[in-house]
Amino acid sequence: MPFMQNNPIISKENINRFLCENCGANMVFDPKSGQLACPYCGGTKAIEQSGGAIVERDYHSYLRPGTERLQPMAINAMQVTCETCGATVTFVPPETARNCDFCGGKIVAQPKSADPLVAPEGVLPFSVTTQIASTALKGWINSRWLAPNNLKVLAQPDKVGSVYIPYWTFDADTYSRYTGQRGEYYYETEHYEENGEQKSRQVRHTSWYGAAGAVSRHFDDLYIPATKSLLPDYVKHLSWEFNDLVPYEPAYLAGHKAQTYQVSLEDGFELFKQNATAIIYNDVRHDIGGDEQQVHNVETDYSNITFKHLLVPVYAGAYRYNNKVFQIVVNGRTGEVQGERPYSWLKIGCLTVVILVVLLIVFFIASASR
Ligand SMILES: [Zn+2]
Ligand SMILES: [Zn+2]
Repeated sequence: MPFMQNNPIISKENINRFLCENCGANMVFDPKSGQLACPYCGGTKAIEQSGGAIVERDYHSYLRPGTERLQPMAINAMQVTCETCGATVTFVPPETARNCDFCGGKIVAQPKSADPLVAPEGVLPFSVTTQIASTALKGWINSRWLAPNNLKVLAQPDKVGSVYIPYWTFDADTYSRYTGQRGEYYYETEHYEENGEQKSRQVRHTSWYGAAGAVSRHFDDLYIPATKSLLPDYVKHLSWEFNDLVPYEPAYLAGHKAQTYQVSLEDGFELFKQNATAIIYNDVRHDIGGDEQQVHNVETDYSNITFKHLLVPVYAGAYRYNNKVFQIVVNGRTGEVQGERPYSWLKIGCLTVVILVVLLIVFFIASASR
């Protein structure tokens, strides 16, 4: 969709450009200073916050037909889609996307104006620099025994891209009516014979009583990852201090990329409900009480549902080895590395030969000195 051409608010004056006041070059968001920085003259500029606090949006009114609240992440944002894995990333010129950060595939498609989407409300800006991420990655690679040599090639800063990944977060009040049964234990003395002797023992039984009632809960900021491009195991282990969120500004995108959500807002809400249901089930069991519980039916009303679209920073890279894609992710806030590693069968083969030769030498020395 030719968004820029059709949009009357776009003119040369109000596009999101971040130009250095000293030399006119494009500034980038600098994780070290938390400001815009000029890569050429070192000039810096604080990021102006145009809005106020991070707002929660009302879920139902957002989904109502005719509500047009989609917008690109920046007015002049561009996007490319990886033909290999399907991930779409947004960036601000002059940034380009040559390789896919998620699968390592070459991006051959021409960038186009970014599609409008649910605007991000909050962002955790990068605080780990490319250098620190690269050093962490080198450390990780060097601690991997018997890894192929081309794993080391990946540890170069230009092989790993800085990309914000999308999350949804939901708030809601729930009211759940339930029916079930409460089990209470009681014990009976049972007499039996063993080896001709009369003995007795306590045997546990359960009485079941019908139970019904209601539980309510307020869910605050349940986070749902909206990316499918990172390995689920990595996403599970990415930990974020969401208290440090700041309101989104396009300036945070300067020099970095942002992935377009792959889980829609509606699908995100369904995932939220799945997580919430598990928690509500626990509440119901607790409410039923007794020694054991059976839950037959739970009906939950959700109200005051609000959501936010958030961006969190990672350095991501991928490479192919023996036709398999290996992904490496560095947390852009903590520098923590997660990665899969291949084994080099050549190195393992060489090591095996060396061990055999050493064993043979030891054997010969031992038998010669006998
Ligand atoms: Zn400059
Ligand atoms: Zn890809």
